[in-house]
Amino acid sequence: MLEINCPFCGKRAQKEFSYVGDASITRPAPEESTDGDWFEFVYLRDNPRGPHDELWHHSSGCRRIIKVRRDVVTHEIIATGVPSDSLSKSAS
Ligand SMILES: [Zn+2]
Repeated sequence: MLEINCPFCGKRAQKEFSYVGDASITRPAPEESTDGDWFEFVYLRDNPRGPHDELWHHSSGCRRIIKVRRDVVTHEIIATGVPSDSLSKSAS
């Protein structure tokens, strides 16, 4: 079983968390966006191989959203932090 290190609670079992989504996408600015920008934001996702930033909800713990950098091939948790953190720089 995976363990995720919540920055607020410490190491917890993965079953306490719910996957929220890709942490690398950004919401288009309403005044400058096209229908194509919104289509891409809502429906299109990359499917990278290797390390990937994700958002997870600690639904059975502190109920906060955290950012997790996870290798989607090996499922290794590389780093965790708050959503504003840039985890790719701390990857090793
Ligand atoms: Zn927590």
